[in-house]
Amino acid sequence: MDLILLGAPGAGKGTQGSRLAETLGIPKVATGDILRESVREKTPLGLKAKEYMDAGELVPDEVILGLVHDALASPAAENGVIFDGFPRNVKQAEDLGRILEKAGRRVDGVIVLEVPDDAIVERMSGRRTDPDTGLVYHVVHNPPPAEVAGRVIQRADDHEDTVRHRLKVYAEQTAPLISFYEREGAVVSRVDGTREINEVQAEILRVLRP
Ligand code: AMP
Repeated sequence: MDLILLGAPGAGKGTQGSRLAETLGIPKVATGDILRESVREKTPLGLKAKEYMDAGELVPDEVILGLVHDALASPAAENGVIFDGFPRNVKQAEDLGRILEKAGRRVDGVIVLEVPDDAIVERMSGRRTDPDTGLVYHVVHNPPPAEVAGRVIQRADDHEDTVRHRLKVYAEQTAPLISFYEREGAVVSRVDGTREINEVQAEILRVLRP
């Protein structure tokens, strides 16, 4: 089963994607996580991507497509994946369609996590990431366990100005994918992402397994 998690930055795609991956037993492909790993390792790709990421801009499509190709070539991905943060624009969605079609697959479902912009900005200011596991926490709503609390970090692109710019990029380039997939006839489910993490998770499972 190939699923796409759509939603603004901070809507909960990372958290819900990890939980869903565990529940369904298929890997999560999070292009943002792969890019941050490359930035940390200072690979040529990471060095190229960093300036776009720090500015809250999208990394060029050809870079992203290469990453997705590699991720889908892994044996773990042969029964489907959960895409988190990809596709981010219509070009990426069209390319994904072609890649999946070659493998006899298609997008089986699109989950849209809906959260208003003001709530996003509040969330992002308290968001912290565990650099070792990539798991995402919030200082108030989802505090890291004691053994992790000492090492969590705030992402450089989670500062307010950059968050507002990322929201603009989302509205202009990514949100149109909702109608793109509706036109394609994919099953698109909108989920209220403002609720408590376990409730959102339960709702996602409900729409996937009615
Ligand atoms: P995320 O962790 O998904 O919020 O992504 C963090 C940043 O990585 C984004 O603001 C972009 O700069 C970059 N990025 C992640 N995924 C993509 C993508 N599919 N296309 C372009 N840029 C991306």
